[in-house]
Amino acid sequence: MNVSKKAGHRFGAHRVIAPPGTMPQNAWKLDDTPVPFANEILCDVDALNLDSASFAQIRAFCSDDEQKIAEHILATVRERGKQHNAVTGSGGMFVGRVREIGEDLRGIDLREGDAIASLVSLTLTPLRLNAITGVQVASGHVSVRGTAILFESASWSKLPPDIDPGVALAVLDVAGAPAQIERLVRPGMTVVVIGADGKSGVLACARARARLGRSGMLIGVAPRASESATMLVRERIVDRFVEADARDALSLSELVSNEAPALADLVVNCVNVDGTELASILCAKDSGTVYFFSMNTSFTAAALGAEGVGKEVTMLIGNGYTKDHAAIALQTLRDNAAVHAYFKKYYAFARPAERLL
Ligand code: NAP
Repeated sequence: MNVSKKAGHRFGAHRVIAPPGTMPQNAWKLDDTPVPFANEILCDVDALNLDSASFAQIRAFCSDDEQKIAEHILATVRERGKQHNAVTGSGGMFVGRVREIGEDLRGIDLREGDAIASLVSLTLTPLRLNAITGVQVASGHVSVRGTAILFESASWSKLPPDIDPGVALAVLDVAGAPAQIERLVRPGMTVVVIGADGKSGVLACARARARLGRSGMLIGVAPRASESATMLVRERIVDRFVEADARDALSLSELVSNEAPALADLVVNCVNVDGTELASILCAKDSGTVYFFSMNTSFTAAALGAEGVGKEVTMLIGNGYTKDHAAIALQTLRDNAAVHAYFKKYYAFARPAERLL
């Protein structure tokens, strides 16, 4: 039963507690009360996927100790009413089930009990956690018992029946990457994906390959010949694999220019570490494009780095939202059995249920 009849602000401004005048994303604290306004959706939350930049920072801070990671996340959410990492500024997303739909939203294609993934950042999602029941250090999945509120403007996706929810959670978190690649890549281009063997990198490579067909050249870059990097080569998704540390801008750009002397029309940055802006810029040709999907990107380093080396490149920020991004990301999995198998191996929800913390 919906107990609240009043509509809140479409973008959730009514949920901001502090500081006054901010919006939910840049607010310090949100109201996480699990009673929906007439234009909100209340969800029971089963799991969080912390975005890679945030989870890497929390893992390092907590020395990879699952108990400490859980306490750290609980403390953040209790203090802020949302999972917003104050160091990286990033969040992640959740999967759960719809508990209640505000009466103004009754016409949407969603029913109480539906399993969904949020497609808006946890940095702006009112979240209340009653318990953390498991932390999967390798995947960044955190099993929880709690509630979340989706605003009228929020995007969400019903969980597909043919894809494991843990895989969907991992893929939908980075859905903007393959969707943007769909727009940016044209046949014949030379494309470099840095951080090619991570979640967004693998999906970006698979989508780029589909757009290129057998034309152009696709170069994947990662710091080691990992299982997923090997899969990208074996499946002929990438034409070349370059093993390099992208923080070493000169070495990486030299290795890339050995493979593609005219450099790249498009460079896609999917890394989860700081300090790779200049390498991305140097791998692009003059008048090329650099798409910074990574949350570790520094505007200052990118802007001043490009100026310093005299490169006129178009630099794009990885907008988390792109029209149809969820559908494009999930379809990328369905189109690529090897990519889907990789995601299943590492991101399918652990069974039996995770150890209680
Ligand atoms: P991920 O799965 O952890 O992958 C990170 C990748 O970066 C891996 O391939 C990793 O290689 C590679 N890498 C790490 N250090 C490197 C180095 N020194 N040189 C070259 N490659 C390096 O991360 P993800 O989930 O794909 O996310 C990637 C980035 O996108 C993160 O910053 C994340 O926060 C951000 N993100 C952005 C959005 C958005 O809307 N724009 C949404 C979600 C996430 P190894 O695994 O071999 O170490």
